[in-house]
Amino acid sequence: MSEARTRLAPSPTGALHLGNARTFLINWVMAKQRGWRVVLRIEDLDTPRTKAGADLLAIDDLRWLQMDWDAGPYYQSDDLTPYHDALRRLASAGLIYPCTATRKEVLEAASAPHDDVHELHYPNIHRPTHPTPFEFAPVRDGQTAYRLWVPDETIAYTDEVAGAVSMNVQQQVGDFVVAAKSGLPAYQLAVVVDDARQGVTHIVRGDDLLRSTGRQLLIYEMLGLEPVPSYAHLPLVVGEDGRRLAKRHGDTRVAMYRELGAPAERVIGLLASWSGCGERRAMSGGEFVERFDLAKLPREPVTFTEDDHAWLVHG
Ligand code: GLU
Repeated sequence: MSEARTRLAPSPTGALHLGNARTFLINWVMAKQRGWRVVLRIEDLDTPRTKAGADLLAIDDLRWLQMDWDAGPYYQSDDLTPYHDALRRLASAGLIYPCTATRKEVLEAASAPHDDVHELHYPNIHRPTHPTPFEFAPVRDGQTAYRLWVPDETIAYTDEVAGAVSMNVQQQVGDFVVAAKSGLPAYQLAVVVDDARQGVTHIVRGDDLLRSTGRQLLIYEMLGLEPVPSYAHLPLVVGEDGRRLAKRHGDTRVAMYRELGAPAERVIGLLASWSGCGERRAMSGGEFVERFDLAKLPREPVTFTEDDHAWLVHG
């Protein structure tokens, strides 16, 4: 059997905040506990949300939080050939079709969708009864996207955290975009192509991406790609208003706490206490690895409080 591997896959769209830092750290801790190799992949195809320099900031934050990796950073934008090859295969099998629906839809589909971002159901306006096989060549006319011809069937799998999951992608989002009008591959396609070619066997990420799993498993199936990974979708960190931690909650960037002089061990300790490791107290990444038990991970969102903030800054 080939080796077990996971990946840390930040999108360089902004700084790491405490919520995504926790997800990355749990991912890394699970890798250490279970002997998975770690690939660092920068998901920088999500233009125009990608910000210059955010990749280096994310890498810096991951290192500061005592994470390491065995391979990478690999940048998706370095070479588009693997994605275009996948699109070529889908096109010649008659599984995708061109679509000139509105820009707004395409933008949403090209990003990693998060649950509180409204996800449109594509009304299948350009959907052919059966797509015609064709020879795919990347076009950058700004008008033509490509959509996957999604069968109306249920996909089921067992998530290590979320349990039994089943979804019907056609009913959930309809035929979704695999290549955007910009000519760039969409998140759903790029992530599968990369996970497969980088040999990723275990995916750990926030449960705002749980809905995307059906789309991704469908692409694995259509392209006959392996290894099909196992998934663990972690409940998110929310603000005191119960909403996913984001800019609206003020500055929760790891870099901000760093600038204020909060020691990394305190930030790691808070993230560990949010992960079922008991009372909040400073700890190293190594100690987190010793103490973490996936069975004790809270199965509901954890709340970042004013008190947590004060403890990070003042101890
Ligand atoms: N880069 C994506 C994000 O930061 C994660 C994608 C994934 O884990 O599949 O939202």
